Amino acid sequence: MKSDLTISQETQLQPISDIAKLAGIQAQELIPHGENKAKVKFSLLKRLDNAKRGKLVLVTAITPTPLGEGKTVTTIGLSQGMKKVGQKVMACIRQPSMGPVFGVKGGAAGGGYSQVAPMEELNLHLTGDIHAVTAAHNLAAAAIDARMYHEQKQGEGFAAKTGLPYLQIDPAQIVWGRVVDMNDRTLRRVTIGINREGSTANGVERESGFDITAASELMAILALSKDLKDLRARIGRVVLAYSVDGKPVTAEDIGVAGAMAAILRDAAQPTLMQSLEGVPTLVHAGPFANIAHGNSSIIADRMALRLADVVVTEGGFGSDMGFEKACNIKARAAGKTPDAAVVVATLRGLKANSGKYDLRPGQKLPDSIFAPDTEALAAGFANLKWHIENVNRYGVPVVVALNRFPQDTDEELAWLKAKVEVLGASVAVSEAFGKGGDGATELAELVLNALEQPAQFEFLYDAEQPIEAKLTTIAQAGYGGEGIELSAQAQADIEKLEALGYGALPVCMAKSPASISHDPALKGAPSGFTVPVRGLRLCAGAGFVYALTGNVMTMPGLSDRPGYLNIDIDEDGNITGID
Ligand code: ADP
Ligand code: MG
Repeated sequence: MKSDLTISQETQLQPISDIAKLAGIQAQELIPHGENKAKVKFSLLKRLDNAKRGKLVLVTAITPTPLGEGKTVTTIGLSQGMKKVGQKVMACIRQPSMGPVFGVKGGAAGGGYSQVAPMEELNLHLTGDIHAVTAAHNLAAAAIDARMYHEQKQGEGFAAKTGLPYLQIDPAQIVWGRVVDMNDRTLRRVTIGINREGSTANGVERESGFDITAASELMAILALSKDLKDLRARIGRVVLAYSVDGKPVTAEDIGVAGAMAAILRDAAQPTLMQSLEGVPTLVHAGPFANIAHGNSSIIADRMALRLADVVVTEGGFGSDMGFEKACNIKARAAGKTPDAAVVVATLRGLKANSGKYDLRPGQKLPDSIFAPDTEALAAGFANLKWHIENVNRYGVPVVVALNRFPQDTDEELAWLKAKVEVLGASVAVSEAFGKGGDGATELAELVLNALEQPAQFEFLYDAEQPIEAKLTTIAQAGYGGEGIELSAQAQADIEKLEALGYGALPVCMAKSPASISHDPALKGAPSGFTVPVRGLRLCAGAGFVYALTGNVMTMPGLSDRPGYLNIDIDEDGNITGID
């Protein structure tokens, strides 16, 4: 089989203006960036305000292995299958961060004959949105340190001299670090503002740190904003620090929110690309799927739902993660709930859920996981059953996609399909990776049937409930656990957040994606566990609080054989080795 990059480079792409025309986007609504990508202007939303809205299909998965079980492949493959069966369809996906592209081998454009193209452009800078988020984030960081420096120098005279409020930022309570779109573990903790003795020329010395840009609250804001006005208002609400008397200091208070929003003006527009079979695809935002909600943007969905009859998108990790957050965080912000869901399962992923394999972080998946092993498959099946029931709990019609890998046998796929059918669920084998849209027409038909059923959507919890009640509901109804255990720190965090008036925000769980529970070692469909909550953090601009249930890495490192070793260019500018 050819590599993803070879398949992508061998495919004759259409000019992006033709793809736009096919999607129903007018020439004056397009800002072309070369031949293969274009920004889509907000004026489209106004022009199509009265257009009939399409249906939203959300692709989720079983509890994944660290390699991913093929949600993006299925998202693109299903949209190509929809096109084959005559639907007006678009796909909406996240923009990959360059950190993992250079770190872990492979990008996030899909794979095989179900990719967004050109994949090397998607996986590298694309149209620079991530860099814009980096710049806007770091502007706020610089603004905090500059403000503190000048306030400390001038004391109470600061307000009279500048006409600005005297904020008295507490250097020990700055909750905004710096970001860069690179895996760089040495930046996790840094000391800034180092001065020569007796000098303060370089600002206030303090400990800080870097996250990868995908972990920036601004990335979550970009994904959760409905339009520019909403983006601007959300940036204003971001809490950067607290004053010495404990009052939140927002980006609006510091006076930097307008400039941050200005940096993000172009990034607020989704980028139009195409799949290998010419499905118009909007790429927009790339928030983390643990400390943030892990879904592509509301703005892209709003555009696509006005243009197409069917819109296919994905949420990060398994249905306990990205799907839960798409329902309880994104759908609440968007005012649009999913009309159907696809649960992607793989033979290897279910075998990995059997408990037979050691899949702790850093462990490599053994090749033997691809060998026929009905016993392991049967043991891991409980995980798929759980995810089907989980989606049903939200009242969303579900279709199971068995994502076929080249090594998979017909026997095992047939065995698994029959097991799913016994549950009464609709299921198709998807050969989207190997055959493109032709491999996903059966899946497309089943999803169209599911879209005929009326979705009776229900949120998991009422956002108005106290934070502890929301956490308990997610642990119990969301994961099937016994409940939660709050650390003293978490208790104090909840009291503070509620006292400051942030108690009615939805809760974003930062937990391991490797288990339905908080504990990556618990495979299949675990029960009887209690979810420990170590602390809570505020994302007032994004509009959620996130709960830490374990160690969450917000700045990855590079491995001893990182992906960048393979990447190069030739004299004509062709990029090699990015898959
Ligand atoms: P997710 O979006 O769920 O994280 P991806 O769609 O990105 O998963 O797929 C993860 C990796 O597995 C990618 O490198 C992709 O090319 C590969 N992959 C997915 N499905 C298949 C398949 N059916 N056959 C071979 N490789 C696949
Ligand atoms: Mg993906």
